[in-house]
Amino acid sequence: MNEAGEKHSEKHLQEAGDVTIFGSDAQIELQLGHVCNNRCVFCVSGQLTEQRLAKQIPVDPVIKALEDGASRGSKRVTFLGGEPTTQRSFMPALRRAVDLGYEQIVIFTNGVRTRKAEFVDKILALGGNYEWRFSVQGGTREAHDAVTLRPGSFDRIVAGMRHVADRGEDVTINMCVNENSYESLPHFPELCKEYSVRQLHIDQMRPSDAGARTDEYFAQFLTRYSEMAPYFAKMLEGFEEMDPDYDVNLGNYPYCQLPEWAHKIHHDGQATLTYPADGVGNFCDPFDKYPTKRADKSHAPQCDKCAFKSQCNGVFDKYAELFGLDEFKPVSLERLTELDTRGHFFVLLVEPALKQFFEAQPPAPWKADEVFRNTRDRIIETRYLDAEGRRATIIITPPPGKGKDVPVHAPLMVTNRFRVSLLLDEGVEPSDVEKLMVWAAEHLESHRTVEVTEAPDWVRLRVGLLPPEELKRVQYKIARLIGRIQRQGEFAGSSCTSIRPAEHGFGSVLEFGRAGQAIVSVALRVELDGDRPRLGVSYDLADGAEPDAARPVLTDVMAALRA
Ligand code: SF4
Repeated sequence: MNEAGEKHSEKHLQEAGDVTIFGSDAQIELQLGHVCNNRCVFCVSGQLTEQRLAKQIPVDPVIKALEDGASRGSKRVTFLGGEPTTQRSFMPALRRAVDLGYEQIVIFTNGVRTRKAEFVDKILALGGNYEWRFSVQGGTREAHDAVTLRPGSFDRIVAGMRHVADRGEDVTINMCVNENSYESLPHFPELCKEYSVRQLHIDQMRPSDAGARTDEYFAQFLTRYSEMAPYFAKMLEGFEEMDPDYDVNLGNYPYCQLPEWAHKIHHDGQATLTYPADGVGNFCDPFDKYPTKRADKSHAPQCDKCAFKSQCNGVFDKYAELFGLDEFKPVSLERLTELDTRGHFFVLLVEPALKQFFEAQPPAPWKADEVFRNTRDRIIETRYLDAEGRRATIIITPPPGKGKDVPVHAPLMVTNRFRVSLLLDEGVEPSDVEKLMVWAAEHLESHRTVEVTEAPDWVRLRVGLLPPEELKRVQYKIARLIGRIQRQGEFAGSSCTSIRPAEHGFGSVLEFGRAGQAIVSVALRVELDGDRPRLGVSYDLADGAEPDAARPVLTDVMAALRA
């Protein structure tokens, strides 16, 4: 409780004395209590420490949580707090995480201890692959110190970043913007460059995570979103100038405040399960972290007209209570289309064309499981389960030429609006997969704005469903033939000038030419003979090449392949 009688939540009081485990199959986050040596104005940890409610976390439950995570297959672990490095359990836990083979260990720190190079070296001596996530609370010394309420804390944190960057380690920054720091935002590009920071994530001050505070306190430290917009814009322009692909993102900022930068904004989204610890480090029944995080947010009535609504979680209730909702101006689909010169809003704009597909029932034995929209990476995944619970995921990404290519499996089908790929769990029945894809293709093509540019590649699908050892046998043969061509080197005065993966089917395409002139390409692919794989060879004349020039080259190439 604070002096004004505001109470801490049960959740924060429980976290203050226990390890809390957040996680999914792939990664876990271990919150080592709330003890912290800073007093950040947006955070509950400093207040709980000040009030002596935050405690040291015993090492055993932390080790147990790490072991459970590893046995569930987690590859990445994040240590956070409070300040995890102040915990006596920190070093033993880190050592155990390395021993358990976690592939990536994220240390989320305020940098108080890393200011000493020996501390950094002590951690590096354990081995392990680290991401050092520094909690930098301002683009300038003044702003950072005004947020942490610890004079000198900026100098300490950048000293740590220097040590870590100088050792070639991965440095990232997290910041929580508030009244004491927003004006310093435009200084971040410079700071990130100086300390080789790979990624910057800026979140909003969340009233429910700020501790037991009064309304006057929130009115003092929460800043109106519209007031911050020009500072965010200036910062983002700075990053754009420095490196258009720089990894900077704003969490939980309403899209309507900066629609032209909406591709840099994301709201709590992908399901992350939270395993509350039971005090001795056992995982209890998990719950989805993000619905919990969204519980203190809501939309304004006018949000119903906004194109961003499906990915926007609205605004914090306390914010709405203090400042009202007039700031939030819906963005129309037309406006979004106008703004989308680089295909950033693929997921939102393609949605109407996929409505019928999303609503259709898949053929038996499939059951629709979930649709996952990743607006930032521009991917939609629709997941289906067969009778055994094995998953088929249909992946929808932008078509070629609509912004940066999204790296996914080779597409099975391409339209003017999207590309379609497929990902399967092991053991699914090939005939069930074909049934699902025939059904999907029919519904995906059904919208009037969709034109198929590359029809579904059923041969590729069937070849992809062959038992892996049979497929490998033919792929190995292709690799051997390519080796033979490379060794021979010369074919009627021409040579093999390039080898690339085949765009269709499984295999490779070899280009032949001479004196900078392409003559002919030869494709070696896995084909089907009934339900057995075999090697297929085909050729194509290069644009403008004479058949007479290609014939002797092809004769020599075919002879080499047959030898
Ligand atoms: S849904 Fe509402 S709060 Fe969110 S971006 Fe649109 S208008 Fe703004």
